[in-house]
Amino acid sequence: MNDILILGGNGQVGWELQRALAPLGRLTICDRQRGNLEDLDGLRKLVESERPAIIVNAAAYTAVDKAETDFERAQRVNAQAVGHLASLAGELGAWLVHYSTDYVFDGEGEQPFREEDLPAPLNAYGRTKLAGEQAIRESGCRHLIFRTSWVYAARGTNFAKTMLRLAADREELRIVADQIGAPTSADLIADITAQVLGQLRNHPQPDSLSGLYHLTASGETSWHGYARFVIAQAQRLGLPLRTTPERVLPIMTHEYPLPAPRPANSRLDTTHLRETFGLTLPDWQFHVQRMLVELIGEKAA
Ligand code: NDP
Repeated sequence: MNDILILGGNGQVGWELQRALAPLGRLTICDRQRGNLEDLDGLRKLVESERPAIIVNAAAYTAVDKAETDFERAQRVNAQAVGHLASLAGELGAWLVHYSTDYVFDGEGEQPFREEDLPAPLNAYGRTKLAGEQAIRESGCRHLIFRTSWVYAARGTNFAKTMLRLAADREELRIVADQIGAPTSADLIADITAQVLGQLRNHPQPDSLSGLYHLTASGETSWHGYARFVIAQAQRLGLPLRTTPERVLPIMTHEYPLPAPRPANSRLDTTHLRETFGLTLPDWQFHVQRMLVELIGEKAA
């Protein structure tokens, strides 16, 4: 089980997978040009020529708001292509590793969602991602689906980097405080993927591990708490900003309307992943802090 095909290699998670999976085997890394999820014939040719033991799909249509008006394309990438990859993996006897989202849930209540809880997406993106999960399960291929949330990385576009940009320009920020979740770094997602794949290799019955796992950092916060943390840490690291943490003001979701509704409760229960593989998931602040040091430097650290 050595050859690994990575799709979406230029995304936040895909980029970190290149690093984390390198010690596990020969990697074939594809960006949108070499592995376009909208070209099903091309995907077949790619998979049949590479014959990987593991296909890792980090590519996705991730523009949550745009998906509301571009549903068919989002569905092609997040559902149809994923079902196709699952069939190809099944034909080859390969594993399919895939990523999904907290947005498959409606966000009701305050308890962390477990894998067996009923999904009920509030937005188009969530519906396409759920359809992708279902297509994998129906294909019968050996798979790992990791549902994660609030992904960020030093490379890529994400909430933390947007906060740094806004805080450099504005004296005050108004950030949603009634959506709760766990910011999760692409590094952590990639490292856990590598750990799990390493364990599959040594497991007497690896097929018994096939399934769905929730994978987020530990702890929880709101977007407002996350923004305050980012700005406080950036300030400590000596980044000149116009906003201070105290000037990051909490607002309610309805005060910042977006095309796609978001779940209020994005908490995911990670017990199944931690107990099955004996893993520890660090608190969300750990990797945010590391990313800020990487981005800003260690002037005052
Ligand atoms: P990114 O948006 O950073 O990366 C997605 C990648 O998919 C991009 O490199 C993009 O290519 C590629 N892509 C888009 N369309 C196609 C296509 N038709 N063919 C091939 N490649 C394509 O996403 P993340 O790394 O953040 O997300 C990784 C996974 O995690 C996804 O499955 C996502 O749904 C899931 N997830 C993400 C969350 C988040 O907050 N970002 C939250 C929860 C889950 P290009 O660079 O050319 O645009």
